[in-house]
Amino acid sequence: MSKSCYFCGEPATSRDHVPPRVFFPEVKDLGQHYGDLRKQLVTVPSCALHNGEQSRDDEYTALIVMVSITNEDIGADHFLSKFRRTMERSPRFRSMLEASLTPTVSDGHQTASLRIDQGRYGGVMARISRGLHFHEVGTRLNGRLHIDTPCLGTGSPEVGFRDASRSHPADLQVKWVGDPRIFEYALAVEPFYLHMKFYGGFDVFVTPATTAERDDL
Ligand SMILES: [Zn+2]
Repeated sequence: MSKSCYFCGEPATSRDHVPPRVFFPEVKDLGQHYGDLRKQLVTVPSCALHNGEQSRDDEYTALIVMVSITNEDIGADHFLSKFRRTMERSPRFRSMLEASLTPTVSDGHQTASLRIDQGRYGGVMARISRGLHFHEVGTRLNGRLHIDTPCLGTGSPEVGFRDASRSHPADLQVKWVGDPRIFEYALAVEPFYLHMKFYGGFDVFVTPATTAERDDL
């Protein structure tokens, strides 16, 4: 059976993880207690260009999600803090994090705020969305996407899976990949609607973009 890339439809040469593997701690990061979280991940066929395995963008986005969530102290349980500490021991992650922090003054205190490269972040979230659509439906998700991340916005309230103000279709099944503590999602096909929840508290809503919108925030 010939497979085509989930993203562009060209012949597939490999499989890409959705969400990227870097979001899931390895056994060596957390210890045996949590089991092997990378054992049953989702993969989709991809061409070389749309395989993110070698991409720094995936690592960058995982870091943004993790730093945001531990800063907000939502869902930051022992499990996540331990994973974040492991990641931050890596010199590559450390330099990526330092490059994303801007010194700011808040209430007279010196602090640092996270600067998001929206193109990289949005690109990765859009790729995950297209991958999940392909995984669920078996066809490519065409068209531009609008990616809404309340916790990266200013003063956004925390949003749950059943937030009526966002017209979450009530009958959507909530699924998870790897472990519900790491990644949950609910997806509707027509019209496309995707709610992703990373690490139990970082919510991302994806819908078709209106004209002129790009794959970004
Ligand atoms: Zn492709």
